[in-house]
Amino acid sequence: MKNKVPNILLIYTGGTIGMVQDYESGHLKAFDFEKLVENIPELYQLDCEIHSVSFDRPIDSSDMNLGHWKFLASLIERHYDRFDGFVILHGSDTMSYSASALSFMLENLAKPVVFTGSQLPIGDLRTDAKENLITSIQVASLRKGGHPVVQEVCLYFENTLYRGNRTTKMSAEQFQAFDSPNFPVLGTSGVHLRIMEEYLWKPPGRKKLQVHTDLDNRVGLLKLFPGIHPGWVRSLLESPELKALVLESYGAGNAPTDTWFLTLLKDAISRGVQLVNVTQCPGGSVLMGKYKTSASLDEMGLIDGKDITSEAALTKLMYLLGSGVSSKSFKTIFETSLRGEMT
Ligand code: ASP
Repeated sequence: MKNKVPNILLIYTGGTIGMVQDYESGHLKAFDFEKLVENIPELYQLDCEIHSVSFDRPIDSSDMNLGHWKFLASLIERHYDRFDGFVILHGSDTMSYSASALSFMLENLAKPVVFTGSQLPIGDLRTDAKENLITSIQVASLRKGGHPVVQEVCLYFENTLYRGNRTTKMSAEQFQAFDSPNFPVLGTSGVHLRIMEEYLWKPPGRKKLQVHTDLDNRVGLLKLFPGIHPGWVRSLLESPELKALVLESYGAGNAPTDTWFLTLLKDAISRGVQLVNVTQCPGGSVLMGKYKTSASLDEMGLIDGKDITSEAALTKLMYLLGSGVSSKSFKTIFETSLRGEMT
């Protein structure tokens, strides 16, 4: 390895960035990583040392699961001392979920982990992949006073650097595919690469990286809509596989006041199911008790999701359940920002 230049580990999981068109079926499918790197000779001009590793079978991120997250977290743990930063190439479809999950799994992270991908394959003439990849590597290489500038899990896409667990995929078509509606962007790339240092996550003290790979996926998501069927809500809330649920409520955390609905929620809580109130609005925060339609939720003890995204709420639940947090302290811990995921 060259001395002094940052060492970056590039981890290829799959996604459009490395896909090619299958001539027989016409579908986009993942191809091998060596070809991906061949398509970007610019990588060799960057002022850093890049090593790469790839999933044995690169995937479309719709196939992402807990096993892949554990693999990624363990890979970073194994190589943590040897590398200055990590760039994860990932499909955009579930990138916000993965970035959120990894943010919880990597406690005391003090190095950059940058998720990126693209809307068009790297071989496409109009591809957005090159800029995304090259700038992500530059972000992961940034150092100041002998320390990495970015010390958290973030997501870089279309000239913008975001805190990963604040993002959500907004567009299946635009190059600007992500947004972070409740937290300022961490950086922008124009003529200059600008990092908004005041918004970066500061890891607490100099604690050793702790990697948590026990996640519990007995969690659910219920998006409310007018006319929702009681039987369906019942079957979800009474499922024996349900330990925690994100309730995507309306506006500032409001929900129907029908007795059947409130009784089902109350019964679930008394059986020990953790219920988190998250707004289904892309931006803004839950304010329980502001309207009468959220007062009963507050009274029965729903967890206040504040301005967390559903992606971060679900993965935070998986992480807290997997860590064996007691039911007594669950609400308090969930309502605390652990990695800058809520305000
Ligand atoms: N379906 C692709 C994926 O998430 C889309 C993308 O990469 O942007 O893997």
